[in-house]
Amino acid sequence: MSFDLVLFGGTGDLAWRKLMPALFQAFRHGSLPAGGRIIGVARDDLSDDAYRAFIKARFDEVELDKRPSQQEFARFAAMLNFLRLDVTKPADFARLAEMIKARQADTVVMYVATAPGLFTSVVEQIAAAGLNGPSTRVVLEKPLGHDLASNRAINEAVRRVLSEKQVFRIDHYLGKPSVQNLFALRFGNALFEPLWRRENIANIQITMSEDLGVEKRGAFYDHTGALRDMVQNHALQLLCAIGMEPPINAHADAIRDEKLKVLRALKPWTPETLQQHVVRGQYAAGISNGAAVPAYTDEPGVAPNSQTETFVALRAEIANWRWAGVPFYIRTGKRLATRDARIVVNFRPTPHAIFSTPAGAANRLVINLQPKDGLELHLLAQGADKRLASGQRSSTQLAPVQLDLDFDKRFGSERVGAYERLLLDVIEGRLNLFVRSDEQEEAWRWVEPILDAWRQDSQGPRPYAAGTWGPSAASAMIARDGFCWSEEC
Ligand code: NAP
Repeated sequence: MSFDLVLFGGTGDLAWRKLMPALFQAFRHGSLPAGGRIIGVARDDLSDDAYRAFIKARFDEVELDKRPSQQEFARFAAMLNFLRLDVTKPADFARLAEMIKARQADTVVMYVATAPGLFTSVVEQIAAAGLNGPSTRVVLEKPLGHDLASNRAINEAVRRVLSEKQVFRIDHYLGKPSVQNLFALRFGNALFEPLWRRENIANIQITMSEDLGVEKRGAFYDHTGALRDMVQNHALQLLCAIGMEPPINAHADAIRDEKLKVLRALKPWTPETLQQHVVRGQYAAGISNGAAVPAYTDEPGVAPNSQTETFVALRAEIANWRWAGVPFYIRTGKRLATRDARIVVNFRPTPHAIFSTPAGAANRLVINLQPKDGLELHLLAQGADKRLASGQRSSTQLAPVQLDLDFDKRFGSERVGAYERLLLDVIEGRLNLFVRSDEQEEAWRWVEPILDAWRQDSQGPRPYAAGTWGPSAASAMIARDGFCWSEEC
């Protein structure tokens, strides 16, 4: 199967840090269909060879075992081309159309990795140049808009020229092997399904923490913040994967229909819940991984009086028969204590205690997504009685024990990475791991009242010291329900 992959933003950070290495890995392992051409597109005036040299230089920065040898790169580079094109100039698209039409590849993928403000223009120009034929697929990077109205505007512009099945909205979290395992855990095993409901589950915690600050992306982040960057997309997609009903089959729309129902069932915000169930924070100076680090407002590209949140903790509820009353806590932030992504399912304690157990002990399923990929099942067990000098036996109470499944050890850490998987899915036309426009709009609809409330709140985000787990208000929020974050208890 021949394909053309046009990479708008072909010289950008995403292209060289994620997309090119992912394409190379697919090429190295023979999963990239033969007969492919990759066309990097940007306004720079580069020859094909200069573009290949640019990508090669970037590859020298990737992990050693992922770096191509001279010969490997030469074979990969034969697929690479460059086209100078300004996406705001219709005439430039005529040259792209000429290139694409001359080859008549089976599949044409247009990967739009430019600033989000250019998405609409790119999609409209693709159509105006006659490049939106049935073999065309368009990949849109996040963020798709900065609120519901701008998201809808992009989706409407896309809908005018492309059918939904031609549009691949990336949420790279969905491409992670660990997230796919979450679907496997729920829908490939009968064990958990009867337990997966309000009668047995006390609360669910989704944590996505980073120990790094904003690094070189301060200017971008300052206009985005944690709610838009992590909650509206990744966190809500994880919540859907945990909370959705089993789909009738594994087809894209069957899965996406069920995710949409979860988003629609999220309890709407009230002035009280906005006040009590959402905490926003911003990191102050502190110690991260043993080194002193500056406050967010002292980072390059960040406004000195910025009110942008680098931390969000919130309590959501899915108002349906399965989940009514079960809190789903979401927490994400930068410069937190560790880099971690995990989902913790806290089961209810036994209804009647016949053993002595440590305070608050109950079963817990931990789904580790990052950096470890695996499952932990926390149980209670009877430890061996100890003989005391008096000849009597000590009275032991049940002790917490853990079953630990490390997917990296079990399946090898060389599994296909998120971007590699997603790029191959686009080329092969599989939509399962991509987000439909109605899901995205529903997610924006739910987070928008939070953004509105923050705009009117003169208090601003709560400061927290870098290297900690965020503002103490996040612990107070969960404590009001009688629970605690998984690292606290
Ligand atoms: P970037 O480093 O600023 O790169 C932007 C790219 O777009 C460059 O290749 C730039 O090249 C090109 N470009 C800008 N204006 C153009 C125009 N008028 N016509 C044609 N090309 C143009 O941005 P990025 O970090 O790669 O991000 C790209 C997109 O991916 C954004 O939507 C971002 O939100 C999203 N994203 C990025 C990351 C990441 O890790 N970087 C992660 C998730 C999502 P020229 O200036 O030479 O034209």
